[in-house]
Amino acid sequence: MEIELFMCRSDNYGVLIRDPKTGVVAAIDAPEATAIETALARRGWKLDLILITHRHFDHVEGIAPLVAKYGARVIAPVLAKADVPGADRYVDEGDIVEVGALRADVWATPGHCVDHVSYHFAAGQVIFVADVLFVMGCGRVLDSTADALHASVKRIAALPDATRIYCGHEYTLSNAKFCAHIEPDNAAIAARLKTFEAARAAGQFTVPTTVGDEKATNVFVRAANAAEFAARREAKNTF
Ligand SMILES: [Zn+2]
Repeated sequence: MEIELFMCRSDNYGVLIRDPKTGVVAAIDAPEATAIETALARRGWKLDLILITHRHFDHVEGIAPLVAKYGARVIAPVLAKADVPGADRYVDEGDIVEVGALRADVWATPGHCVDHVSYHFAAGQVIFVADVLFVMGCGRVLDSTADALHASVKRIAALPDATRIYCGHEYTLSNAKFCAHIEPDNAAIAARLKTFEAARAAGQFTVPTTVGDEKATNVFVRAANAAEFAARREAKNTF
């Protein structure tokens, strides 16, 4: 799988994936049509598919212009139907999405919002989780529950350590500072915070992360139970 990562809007990550066997290209979400068009042009790719993770505006705004320009097919979560009308296919837990010869399992990953799905490409050990899990953080609980988010985060963290995680926003520095606040004696967190401060100062991306790195440094993944997870999520809201 070829992967092109780039910034959209102010802090959204845009992602394009391409199956080298068939040349089929998919965008994960459509945060900003012009940024996605620029990334496609840079690689000389066309757009065949748009895989939507959830209904929030900053993930779907680019759908209409991208469909108009490339004729891309849109795949969206079934629970996002009201906000993503006219998709070519609606998916839910257990469905399989094909990007050329690449296969993704659709995971229902509620918690940030009820409709959120993630796309897991098991053969490539890659998962696209948008706003469920961030580097050293997790999404806010909006119209769902902390328990649901905790279950989704735990499920992602149960994948093999080498699995690469692509998330939807660059929130890493704020998240890393919060992790260092919660676990001040965790050397892996301190080291990673330092690495990311340098990376961000140099304008570098902090995505993707891996399951192994998140298990070592993400205080939401590391929460002992659902109650501790919920308390940390509340604390982060005002940190
Ligand atoms: Zn969102």
